[in-house]
Amino acid sequence: MAKPEKLIENGIRLDGRRPDELRPIKIKVGVLNRADGSCYFEFGLNKVIAAVYGPREVHPRHMQKSNSAVVRYKYNMASFSVEDRKRPGPDRRSIEVSKVSREALEPVIFQEYFPRSAIDIFVEVLQADAGTRTAGINAASLALADAGIPMKSLVSACAVGKVDDTLVLDLNKDEDNYGQADMPVAMTPDGKITLLQMDGHLSGDEFKEGLEMAKKGCLEIAQLQRAALLEKYATRMDGESNE
Ligand code: UDP
Repeated sequence: MAKPEKLIENGIRLDGRRPDELRPIKIKVGVLNRADGSCYFEFGLNKVIAAVYGPREVHPRHMQKSNSAVVRYKYNMASFSVEDRKRPGPDRRSIEVSKVSREALEPVIFQEYFPRSAIDIFVEVLQADAGTRTAGINAASLALADAGIPMKSLVSACAVGKVDDTLVLDLNKDEDNYGQADMPVAMTPDGKITLLQMDGHLSGDEFKEGLEMAKKGCLEIAQLQRAALLEKYATRMDGESNE
């Protein structure tokens, strides 16, 4: 889409959201039979699937750690996930996203429980509309829980940014393209930040205010994540299965 004249009009964004509003979220835990844990996560027009395998043997073996598990995270965008076909295979961006996403999750995983083993996380982006790394982290956090990996807490992620000189939560593609700043954040429900990136410019005050907005967004996401886990795992009293 060509640059719109305004991205916010009368306090409402082009997709109808208020500045502090997240895009609609849909979550389904346990969508893949072969993986130890999995999750499908929709974040507005983003659609991602996360799969977790492990703890399992490490190949190649020289990557083993004698006192903890190695966590590996592979983020991949399907070639049909974006308007201009994405060239298949890893590129600089996907390597960067994989690294920061792994680092966003490692602090909550009890890696020391599984020496000499690997916990492999795969995230496939099926449809992208800005915010795929945050959608991937939200999905991966649930897939880890679904795999029964012991964790200190879940991790939730969303971006905050600036468009038309206004701070906005969870940028969509046009806001990402034509906005002034994009700051993805991941955190635990008790506010420990595990990912913080920044593209563009924010003043000191905007940064502080933006971080507060992101915190509220992450807490909202954490509640939905919890509900999605309960949907799969809570024991139903009426004898029906959760499937
Ligand atoms: N994008 C694209 N082609 C690419 C990479 C990204 O069209 O090769 C789009 C896609 O919609 C993505 C958005 O640009 O969600 C923003 O990408 P960014 O690198 O900011 O990461 P994200 O916001 O998805 O975490």
